[in-house]
Parts: sequence; structure tokens; C-alpha cells
Amino acid sequence: MVAQVKNKALDMLKMLKKIIGSKLNMSAKLNKATKLLAEQFECDAAACYLVLDDNYLELFAACGFNAKITNNLTLRVGDGIIGGIAMSKRTTTVENIWQHPDFLYRAEVGEEKYKSFLGTPIIRWGRSIGVLCLYKKDLYNFKKSEVDALETLAMAFAEWVASDEMREYKNAFMQKRGQATRDSYKGMSLSRGFGIGPAVVHRRRQIINKIFADDKDDELKRLAQAHAKMNADLDKKFNESKLGLGEHADILDAYRMFAKDKGWYNKIAGHVDGGLTAEAAVERAYEDMWNRLSATQDTYLKERLHDLRDVADRLLAYLSGDNTDIKAANLNEIVIVAQTMGPADLMDYDYHKIKALILEEGTPTMHVAIVAKALGIPVVSKIKGIYKEIKTGEILAVDGDNGVVYVRPSDKTIEKIKANIAERERLAVQLLELKNLPAKTLDKKRINMYINVGLNFDLDYLETTNCDGIGLYRTEIPFMAAEKMPDVEHQIAYYNNLLDRAGNKKVVFRSLDVGSDKLLPYWTYSGEENPAIGWRSIRITLDRRAILRQQMRAFIRAAKGKELNVMFPMIANLAEFKEAKETLMLELEKEKRRSKDIPSKVNVGLMIEVPSVVFQLDAILKEADFISVGTNDLAQFMFACDRTNNRLAERYDVLSVPFLRIMQEIVVKANYANVTCSVCGEMASNPIEAMVLIGLGYRNLSISGAAFGKVKKMIRSANTVLLADYIQTLLDYNQRTLRPQLIAYAQDHGIEIF
Ligand code: PEP
Ligand code: MG
Repeated sequence: MVAQVKNKALDMLKMLKKIIGSKLNMSAKLNKATKLLAEQFECDAAACYLVLDDNYLELFAACGFNAKITNNLTLRVGDGIIGGIAMSKRTTTVENIWQHPDFLYRAEVGEEKYKSFLGTPIIRWGRSIGVLCLYKKDLYNFKKSEVDALETLAMAFAEWVASDEMREYKNAFMQKRGQATRDSYKGMSLSRGFGIGPAVVHRRRQIINKIFADDKDDELKRLAQAHAKMNADLDKKFNESKLGLGEHADILDAYRMFAKDKGWYNKIAGHVDGGLTAEAAVERAYEDMWNRLSATQDTYLKERLHDLRDVADRLLAYLSGDNTDIKAANLNEIVIVAQTMGPADLMDYDYHKIKALILEEGTPTMHVAIVAKALGIPVVSKIKGIYKEIKTGEILAVDGDNGVVYVRPSDKTIEKIKANIAERERLAVQLLELKNLPAKTLDKKRINMYINVGLNFDLDYLETTNCDGIGLYRTEIPFMAAEKMPDVEHQIAYYNNLLDRAGNKKVVFRSLDVGSDKLLPYWTYSGEENPAIGWRSIRITLDRRAILRQQMRAFIRAAKGKELNVMFPMIANLAEFKEAKETLMLELEKEKRRSKDIPSKVNVGLMIEVPSVVFQLDAILKEADFISVGTNDLAQFMFACDRTNNRLAERYDVLSVPFLRIMQEIVVKANYANVTCSVCGEMASNPIEAMVLIGLGYRNLSISGAAFGKVKKMIRSANTVLLADYIQTLLDYNQRTLRPQLIAYAQDHGIEIF
């Protein structure tokens, strides 16, 4: 940075600080600060817009414009040049606004006299919270040095705009307009469960008071010390933490490598060399990276920005000396509210105390969500604005099943959430009680009960449920959690771990079922009109045969000496099944030539999820060793009803004539052909629906571990012969759903379905 620019920016910062610290009211301070910008940059006008409600920018101060427009002018984020700056988070210079394609003319503003423009976003915690604008009457190209100076000032504005004082000032405006704070928020559930507790706002980020350094060498030394200490502490934490087990070990390890990355460190050091303080340099390095990566379509790289933000925050905490763990030590139950978090952040807390996690930004593939889920912590994400609204200490109640967060909940809501917590605990106790009792019906039919496994965490159910094995291992889950496509060796490690944990119990491996709602973060997906019926699952792995072959190889090698059960998802016809099976057999042949250590037996099956296969079932049953009905997808395709669309959730019911008929057709044919037939979709995890399945003749259910106790209880109280008779009488009904009749039947016959 050129010394002259630095000095000028430094002078401006001093003046700005004086204004901020003065006794003027907020409106006067903002106007004075905006006027200062115009004067110091030798401009004819300046404006300061602040973001309200995440969607709108409002003009909070201006000079050189029609006075009446202050607090009377709003712009949607994304609209015009200024809305575009807030949206893109990028500085924009325009020589002549009248020729700019995005320029929005608003007669009431009085912009007629101005031509050239420089606007920069005010960014705080990775998001635009305002825009600073400068205008000149003449045509002018703003210089790089001026852009740098305004960006530096915007950093100081960012701290000010995020202060409590400014927050209250802005809230007063919102309240006046009836946009007052809310008492509940609807977000997206990333992990189920319920929790109540005081909020702990995860705000490790430090306020950067000083932007330019007095002594470069001292600053570099400070940076090096903080960086070394942070990494030493991280290493220690990782080694001590119980979190570092299973597939999240990879996630946490990658994070640690990120913190040690030399390239990142050198960039920060470069900014310090240019005159910035270490803190300001960390922010600038983040912004540089953000500018480069935020525009990319690559989900993997985008997700890395979260990690970078997290590491940057961590380093800032060490630089400030405030690197002590979040001060929640005196609370026994906490609900963490964060804008975003890195996976390692959870280790700053005693995770037993975390009752729920709320993220403003978060996707199911986000690492912190995967780790939290593995720890059984309910997670709700995609709640805009909550991070700014909530103060540490405020009571929050979280319904992770429905993705709802209640702020300062009423007694009634607390009661409801507590009842749900108690119900979950009750189920856990029930599970324990039933653990060693057989899954036998009253008429002595043994039902084989398996569990569905995705995360390592699910493996705990192997012991707690005393199940017959794993009826569905969703292999895509570790793929989704990994940093890059796992190679054969990595896959073998996952599968070995699973087989070891399962001991002598049966394990069914499903081949990679990605696409649609299960996306791999490191893969670019071209937008599809209908992803659920698009290029997904077996369609991808048959087209990208190397992936399928590698997975088959890994299965074979992991299962040496043991029985191997492989199941292919989304098969639509016999030809597809044969192709997939041949790929497995080819790999098996190759392995036989390579080694004597092969699986003792290989069984090949498929999922019944696409209705077309039911019309070719006789032929398929001659080729398959087993089948498993994926009722989630089968219902989706039978009813042509998107399984993720809430508006349709109530419209069609699996407990209805068409669905029960197809389910009956499948099990009758499979039993006749003597091919093992199970259900691994959600239907098997719901007691009333599982009751119908055993009545239809299903003897193998693979269910979610959490539902195990409920379903076992139902099994032990049902009589399949009576059920079978009753269900036959329902198959000619005209109603949309048979659920009320079936519930009444269960109640009348003492079948435990709740
Ligand atoms: C199903 O579709 O029922 C199934 C078990 O597979 P998934 O839910 O993983 O698509
Ligand atoms: Mg499916």
C-alpha cells in the first residue's frame, strides 16, 4: 500500500472515530460521517445505505441529495448498481452512471447532476450490511488508491454498523414499520430432535479497531506467535477430543490442515508487510479469497470458504489474546446460535451441554451439521436474521424435527418441547427394556429386524437395539462427508470399520445412491429440470463405470472371508440390474486372480424403488438373491409426488389401496420365488405402517435405529394371521387413505402403535 494512501486513510479513520465517539445522536453521526467521506474523497455527494431485514437497503444518510429522501428510500438487494454491490459484495466504479446497464433512475433522489460513482459494500461476517457511495459531477475514473481507501474505511463502518448502538437504532426503524422482532422462525432441519436452553451466540469474531500497524516487524512477530499458538492448541484439542472418531475424523483433520496452510499464512503476512495490522490483514486475506471463490460454481470450493472463515476467526481470537473458550462454562444446557461454524468450533463447548444448534447458513453437507448430527444434536439452519436478533442468554426452544426455533417461548411451547424431549427419552428406555426380547408376533412369527445406517453414529444402534444386522448401509453418506471422492483404500477403511462393528451380523451394502437430494460437495451437478427423476443413483454409476467398479472392489476387499451383500438402488429394469451385477462379478473375478482372500459368499440384490421393475419382477427374481423395497422412492414414483414437497406431504398415503396392492404383489412374488424380501424405506420405521407390512407378509424390516423400540413393541403385540385377513378386506375400499381404519383396528386389538 502506498504510504500516502495509508496516511490519508489513517487520517480519515481518526476523524471517523471521533464522530462515532461523539455525543451526537445516531442520525447526526451518520450524516456527519457521510459528509466526511464526500469531503475527504473530494466528491460532490455521498450516501450511506444500510441493509434492513437482509433484503432491503435503506438510505440512512446522504449529502448532496434531496434531504427528504433520507430514511425514505429503499432498494431491494440486487436492484440497480447499489443493490448489485450489496448482492455481489464487490466494489464498483462507474465513469458515467447514466450509461450503466443497471442504473436505476429514481426521480425523487436528485441524482441528475452526478455522473461518476464509486460504491463499496460494508461487509461484516461475510455478508453485506450496507453500501457506501461516492459521486462526482464530472466524468471521472476512480483510482485504485481511492478504491483501497474507501474499502479500508468500510471496514471501520462495518464495526460501527454492527454495534449494539446501531442495532438498536435500526430496530427502532423496523419496529415503527411493523417489522418488529419475531417469536418463532421456520428454517430447515439438518438434524432431528428437540432442545431448550439459553442461547449462546457464537461470536468469536473480534472487533478490528486498528487497521494500520505502527511497526511492521512487531506486527509480523505477533502474527507468527498467534498462528503458532493457535495451531499448537488445535493439535492438542484434536488429540484430546472424543469427536475425532469415525468419518468426522477426516473432516476435522482437513480443517487442521487448513489452519496450517502456508499459502494462507503467507498472504496474511504479505498484507502485514504492506502496512496493515495483523488483524486487518487476516480480514483482507479472507476478502481476497472470498472474492476469488464466491463466484465459483464449485460447491466444494464454496464450502471451503466456511472453513476459511472459521480459521480466520480463530486466528483473530488468538491475536486479540481472547482465545479462551466461549464463556458458557456456568451453563449446563445451551443452544448455540451461529451465523456459520466450522466443525472444530463445536469443540470449544462441552458438547454434552449443547441442546441444539442454530445456523443462519447451513446445508446438510456442511461439516458442522454432519458432526452435530453424529453427536445427536438437533440442528436447524437457513434462518435469516436470527443471529442478529438473538442475544446470549435469551431462552430458545428448538424443534429439530420440523425446523422451528421459538424465541422466548411461551409456557405452552416449553411444555410441548419438553414433552417431545421426554418422549424421546421414553423411547430410549423402551428400547433398553425390549433389547433382549425376541421380535416375535403373538402368532409366533419371527420378524427379522435390521437397522439402516448412514453415519457412524448409527452404528451404536447395533449394540443398543440388538438387531439382526444392517439392512441398508447408505454408502453415499461417508462420500458426502468427505473432502474429495474417497479412493478404494479410503472406502475399504469405512467398510472395514462397519463390518468390524457388525461382527457376525449381516450387512447389506448399497452402492452409491447420489444425485437428487443427496449431492456430493466436490462434484459439479449441471442443473436438471427434475433431479429426482434425473441422472442419479445407479444411472450415474453405470455411466461412470469406474466409480462403480472401485466401489465393488472396495466392498470385495473389505469383506474378505465374510459374506458380502450388495444392493443396487433405483434399478428400473432387468437389463440395468444385470449390468450392475456383471460389474460386481467382473471385479470379483479380477480379485480371485489377485488374491485368495475373497468374500466367503456374495449375494446380489436390488432395491425396488422404481415401479417399472415390479412389472418385470418374475424375471428379476430369477437373477436376484434378495430384494429390498425402498418405499420412500417407490411412493414418490407411484404417486408422481415429490417426496420433499411439503405441500404434497398429506395428499397421498402409503396406507392406501394402490400402494398396499403393489406392496402385496412384491412380497407375494418374492415369497413364491423364495427370494428374501425386505423393506428399508421409512414405512418400516413407522409402527402403524410396519404393522401393515407384517400383515402383508413381510418378515424382514430395516428401520432407523431411533424407531427400533416402537416397531419391536408393535411386532410383539400383533397377530399376523388376523392382520392379513383384515387387510384383505380393505383392498377394495374407495377412500384416499386407509389410515383411520387401520389405527382403529390396532387400538381395538391391543396392537401398540404409539
Ligand atoms: C427409499 O427410497 O425408500 C430408500 C430407502 O432409499 P433413500 O431414502 O436412501 O432414497
Ligand atoms: Mg431411495
